[in-house]
Amino acid sequence: MSPPRATARDELTPRDPKDWKIATKLAHAKSTVSDPYGAAAPPLYQTATFAQPSATTFGRYDYTRSGNPTRDHLEQAMASLENADRAFAFSSGMSALMCVTRLVNAGERIVTGDDIYGGTSRLLAQVVPKVGIEVVNVDMKDLEAVRAAINGGKTTMVMMESPTNPRLQVIDIKAICDMAHEKGALVCVDNSMMCPTFQLPLDLGADISMTSATKFIAGHSDVTGGLLACKGQELGKRIYFHQNAEGLHLGPFDCWLALRGLKTMQLRMERQQQNAMTLATWLEAHPRVKKVNYPGLKTNVGHDLHFKQATGAGSVFSFTTGDVEFSKIVVEETQLHKITVSFGGTTSLISLPCFMSHASIPADVRAARGLPDDLVRISCGIEDAEDLLADLKYAFAVAEKKVGEGKSASGAAVKPVYASREEELLARIAELESKLGGK
Ligand code: PLP
Repeated sequence: MSPPRATARDELTPRDPKDWKIATKLAHAKSTVSDPYGAAAPPLYQTATFAQPSATTFGRYDYTRSGNPTRDHLEQAMASLENADRAFAFSSGMSALMCVTRLVNAGERIVTGDDIYGGTSRLLAQVVPKVGIEVVNVDMKDLEAVRAAINGGKTTMVMMESPTNPRLQVIDIKAICDMAHEKGALVCVDNSMMCPTFQLPLDLGADISMTSATKFIAGHSDVTGGLLACKGQELGKRIYFHQNAEGLHLGPFDCWLALRGLKTMQLRMERQQQNAMTLATWLEAHPRVKKVNYPGLKTNVGHDLHFKQATGAGSVFSFTTGDVEFSKIVVEETQLHKITVSFGGTTSLISLPCFMSHASIPADVRAARGLPDDLVRISCGIEDAEDLLADLKYAFAVAEKKVGEGKSASGAAVKPVYASREEELLARIAELESKLGGK
C-alpha cells in the first residue's frame, strides 16, 4: 500500500511563522515596520526626529529616543526569537541591566549569583545599593541557599546568568524562576552566552531575557548594545518607560548592524561551538590543565542540567593551569586568539578574566568567590579548528619552555605568584635569609 498522502488541506496551509526554526526566524526577521519599497535589507532611519502631520497630531514616530523604525525592526525580531511579548534595544548590555534594576524600589532586595560578569557585579555592588536597594550574592548552584536569600528579605528581582561568566557554572533556571515567583519576584536571565540560538529563558519561566548584543547578536565585535525581551505587556510598559525616560536606547545605525548580525547568528554560533568543543577536548586531556569549564564536555558537572535547558553549549569556555604565570604566557603567546575582553565575535579571543573583564571585582571578593587568577577564558571564533588548535599548542609549548627557564612572556624573569600576602612575606624572608647566609 502506498503511504498516505498529505491532504490538500495540509499542503494549502503555509507554515505558521511561530513554528519556524530559529535559523529561518533569523534569516526572515519579522517586523510590522512598513517599507514602501520592499527593501531586502531593513532600511536605516538615521534620524533623530520625524516631521509631524500637524502641530496637534502625531505620526507613528516623533523622536528617536522614544521610537525609531530601525530600532522597532530589531526589537520586534528579538521579541519573536525569544518568544517574548516585547523586546527593547539598549545602548549596551550594561544599560539594559541598569534598566532591569530600575524595576526595583528602595528597600527591596535583588538576589544574584556569585559568579557573574564583572560589570554586572560592579553595577550591583557599587551603583544599585546607593539608591537603597539591597543586593545579596549567593552561590546559585546551591538551590537552598538561593531559596534562603529570596525569602530572607523583600526580594523583588532575581538576576542570574547560566552558564555563568567566567566559570561557566550551570544554574537551574526553571527551579529558581519557580522559587522567585512563589515570592512574587521577577527573574531576569542574562542570556548573553547562549542567545536565543541555544537557550530561551522565557520558555524556562524567566520574566526577562537579557542579551548583550555586543557579543553574538552583532557578532563582529563592531557594536556595543544590549537587549531585553520580556513577558507581558505590563512589564513591557515599565521597561519602555525607563528606556525612554533615561535615554538608554540603542542608536539606529547600531540597530541596523545588529539586525545584519542576526541573519548569520546561527551559522556563526554553530561553527564557533564546534571550534570550542575541539579546543576544550584537547585542553581537558592536557597534563598542565587543572580544570576545563565548558558545559559541552560530558565530564562537566553542569553538562546534564545544561542540556535540559539549552540546545548547545556555545563557544565560550575557561580553564585553569594552577600557575598564573603559565596562564599569562599562554594568553600572550597565542597568535590567532586576540587578547581581548568580551566574547562572541567572529575572531577568537583570549583573556585572563581576573586581570581584565572581572578586574573591577575587588581581589578579596574574587578570592572569597573562588575566582582563580590563573583562569584563562577563550571565546572561539569562526576560524578553522585546526589552526586554532595549532595556535593553542604553540602557546602551551612556549609557556612550558619559558616557565621551565624561569622567564615570563616578555623574556623577563618570572615573578613568583603567591597564594596570600603571608606566603609572599615568608618567601621574601627566606630569600633574604639565604642571601645573608651566603655572605
Ligand atoms: N553580561 C555578560 C555576561 C557580559 O559578559 C557582558 C559584557 O562582557 C555584559 C553583560 C555587558 O554587556 P556590554 O558590554 O554590552 O555592556
